[in-house]
Amino acid sequence: AEVRELLTSRIHDVPDYPKPGVMFKDITPLLADARAFAVLTDAFAGLAERHRATKIVGLEARGFILGAPAAVRAGIGFVPVRKSGKLPGATLSQAYDLEYGSAQIEVHASGLAEGDRVLVIDDVLATGGTAEASVELIRRTGAEVAGVAILLELGFLAGRERLERALAGAPLEVL
Ligand code: 5GP
Repeated sequence: AEVRELLTSRIHDVPDYPKPGVMFKDITPLLADARAFAVLTDAFAGLAERHRATKIVGLEARGFILGAPAAVRAGIGFVPVRKSGKLPGATLSQAYDLEYGSAQIEVHASGLAEGDRVLVIDDVLATGGTAEASVELIRRTGAEVAGVAILLELGFLAGRERLERALAGAPLEVL
């Protein structure tokens, strides 16, 4: 509860960003606070250990910032899941629906393999679409999803139900 309070106190609400009517959760004050960022990194690394993850996948772009130090702390590798067209090697890609239109995420085919247990890390869960697509993408590499860990859940969008359906029993951890 103390950890939660420290972390949430360093996340700021920005009204009408990126468009009118949206309340954006800004995590940059948390990143700028050495103690809060260290506490967050330890929490994610602890989850990686608890779920016996062999890799951390970070979702572009804030999942990179949060996932990479946690991977170093946990002593496991980091694998980026990126928006389409950004990875140089052979990739697997997964399309998913947005509010308007659709998007695609990709991972290097060589980045994950059967036998890997993956903890997926991102900052915010909203509709759950991004995390759901990443779970499907990771499973197509042959790797197992050990869980998804999120800093903050926006409760009003039913993202949790959607993601939990995709996880099919694997844990969703919200700090
Ligand atoms: P979803 O796919 O669950 O609708 O959206 C989640 C993705 O959008 C995450 O990658 C997250 O970084 C980003 N996102 C959506 N809303 C917010 C927000 O209010 N704050 C931040 N920091 N990221 C958000």
